[in-house]
Amino acid sequence: MPAEFHPRTKVTTESIFSRMSRLALQHGAINLGQGFPSNPPPGFLLEAARRALGRVDQYTPPPGLPALREALAEDLGVTPEQVIVTAGATEALSSLADSLYGEGDEVVMLEPYFDAYLPQTLMVGAKPVLVPMRLQPTDSGSPGGGWELDLEALEAAITPRSKVLLLNSPYNPTGSVFSREELEAIVALARRHDLWVISDEVYDELYFGAPPTPLRTLAPERVFTVGSAGKRLEATGWRIGWIVTPPGLAPEVAGMRQWSSFCSAAPLQAAVAEALPLARAEGFYAELRESYGRRKDLLAQGLRGMGLEVFEPQGTYFLTVRMPEIGAEVLVQEARVAIIPGSAFYASSPPPQGLYRFAFCKTADDIEQALERLERFLRVRG
Ligand code: GLN
Repeated sequence: MPAEFHPRTKVTTESIFSRMSRLALQHGAINLGQGFPSNPPPGFLLEAARRALGRVDQYTPPPGLPALREALAEDLGVTPEQVIVTAGATEALSSLADSLYGEGDEVVMLEPYFDAYLPQTLMVGAKPVLVPMRLQPTDSGSPGGGWELDLEALEAAITPRSKVLLLNSPYNPTGSVFSREELEAIVALARRHDLWVISDEVYDELYFGAPPTPLRTLAPERVFTVGSAGKRLEATGWRIGWIVTPPGLAPEVAGMRQWSSFCSAAPLQAAVAEALPLARAEGFYAELRESYGRRKDLLAQGLRGMGLEVFEPQGTYFLTVRMPEIGAEVLVQEARVAIIPGSAFYASSPPPQGLYRFAFCKTADDIEQALERLERFLRVRG
């Protein structure tokens, strides 16, 4: 009998995003599933990377290239000592899992949840505790596009084993952006129960209304922020993410992080270090918001035109729609449009019927063509 895999491998099946991208390729479908831009990153980032190759090619210190830690500190209003550069936000989250919780601990998070949160919690032996968002009809006037944070349910889910509150705002997949009042209430709750907070803010520059409040500004002593150059600079495959720790708490997290990938790709760190101040000075994020805003409206109008219920996002590049319950696999094969089934973001409560997440970080052409294909498919199907 050969040796067996550790039971933890059971939690690492193919992610819904990889699966839908694979099926999209297989069926020649337009991919509005996995959230990655279809355009190349901005020229100023690519040029900085070209200059860095052959110049910054060896290991950087595990917490990150000093120039990038400084650029991030400047951009985020923290000190360089609080910043740890990681191989994407996914590694930022797993380093925090390694550092903050384990066997016997509970991690309280919201449902629908971003897919990585569950396996990352289970892999360190902790228990995910999911608190459903309330889903109201879109005409209820709810600012979260239909989803509402249930603070009472959140507090009720906390037990003496709870160690961490894991939040995501702007929120993938709902597109909600928590208001300052909601964040203040969350912080009060974290303080009352002495919880760490992991605030996944990878879409921090992608909002369509008022700018989101960084949670660390409300509770600097207990909030770990996760960020992503991939999202900000449209280079999701570069795998440059970061953690901002509370003051004085970086060395332990950096210590854990060095044993996963040791350091992130050095020339790409150098490029991001150069690009961050440029992006800010040249209004790149404002342009990004405008351009995504246009594509969001294009998609939302098209879907509404088909009589579908659209949950208008306040941030991120995702939009949820309620459609007849067809199945994402049928859609990718027959309509040749890849989208993510809402049920993929639910594990504890029954998923609301007929929800699908569309990514609109794709070209206007792709969006228009996907709308046509979907319209035709739904019409023929009746
Ligand atoms: N964040 C992206 C999404 O939600 C993709 C994540 C991934 O594939 N790791 O679509």
